[in-house]
Amino acid sequence: MNAPRAPYLMNTDTTFDCAAFGFDSARIRETLSILGLQAEHAKLAERIRRETTGGEAKAMVHSCCIALARDRGFALIERNIGIECFTQTWTLHLQCYGQDFDTPKYFGERLAIAAAFVRAKIPQGLLQLQHSLTQQTLINNLSVKFADDTATLGPLIDCVVKLTSLNVYLSAEGYHLPQIDELRKALTKLRKETSHWHQEASTDQLTGLMRYNTLMEALDHHIDIAHRGHDGRSGKPLCVAMIDLDFFKKINDTYGHVVGDFVLKHVAGRLQAAVRDFDMIGRFGGEEFVIIMTNTPLELAEVIAERVRKGVMDTPLHLKEFSIPITISVGVAMLRSGERKEALIERADKAMYEAKNAGRNRVMLAKDTGDSGTLPEL
Ligand code: GH3
Ligand code: MG
Ligand code: MG
Repeated sequence: MNAPRAPYLMNTDTTFDCAAFGFDSARIRETLSILGLQAEHAKLAERIRRETTGGEAKAMVHSCCIALARDRGFALIERNIGIECFTQTWTLHLQCYGQDFDTPKYFGERLAIAAAFVRAKIPQGLLQLQHSLTQQTLINNLSVKFADDTATLGPLIDCVVKLTSLNVYLSAEGYHLPQIDELRKALTKLRKETSHWHQEASTDQLTGLMRYNTLMEALDHHIDIAHRGHDGRSGKPLCVAMIDLDFFKKINDTYGHVVGDFVLKHVAGRLQAAVRDFDMIGRFGGEEFVIIMTNTPLELAEVIAERVRKGVMDTPLHLKEFSIPITISVGVAMLRSGERKEALIERADKAMYEAKNAGRNRVMLAKDTGDSGTLPEL
């Protein structure tokens, strides 16, 4: 019986933000209209308070509680809310029975009480039982008081039935609120996790750059966009650069695989720093990288590739007493009309091998004309 008091149940000053849960003034009006509650019911409710609940609320709650205590769920009220808190709240509500039933405050309080019941793990049926018992007690009291005045009794009973319906409805709606809250939290958490997993899945672990698959998907996507431009004569040029580290095997052989990994990470950082914000860069394979340059003609792509090459060359990796010089060979190709990514990559790769054959540490451009002899229409 001495369960800790749940202050939120008694705190009727709390203005529960019912608008945030969909009970704006329009919905309040709509609910009242559905239940047939009108201005005249305010006067009837006042009469009910004057005749019964105003003075007899405590006794009414007491008799209702005796009935309610027979329900299994009542033990949870004792344990999780406390009988005193529960009966005080009930009494208070009866004392101001139906008062200001058309205000957000009234709606908010009843939604909040139901939400508090959910948190206290009280079954929803018990709350409905409470409303039914209140209604029965009120009707019994009124029927005794107005036994000889059925003209007055009828509208009063009608008012009690309508207000009970409103209270039952608000209890039911309030019961969903914590669940909606929980659902919201769970969804936010899920969204964060999914984006984290997505990030993990699309990023190369060693270098932090895009993974091969993600890179190829991005290339497919941007090639589609570039080709769509061809038809509308508003084609945007697209270039790719294939990058391969020079004599990387030697670095591995000289300093070991761990240092080799370190070099790859370092180079990835240099590449990223040298490209533009909107360029996409990923790890194509072991020590090979690809840059996708959208909306970029070949001449500009060459300038960027040169900047990238110099960026890598100019910052040798310092490791303990060693200064490891690193250079790259780069092949650049511009998308041709109707070309798919495989052919484009192959031309960039071929240009990169030409750079190797020409002495490494340089940029070579893929020729515009391919085996088919078609010219780019960009
Ligand atoms: P070239 O200038 O002709 O490109 O010479 P290279 O030695 O760089 O060429 P090659 O392709 O023969 O060697 C690439 C080496 O890269 C082989 C492989 O052991 C190494 N490699 C590939 N992936 C990784 C990696 O993730 N970490 C390390 N440390 N080494 C890697
Ligand atoms: Mg290689
Ligand atoms: Mg290499």
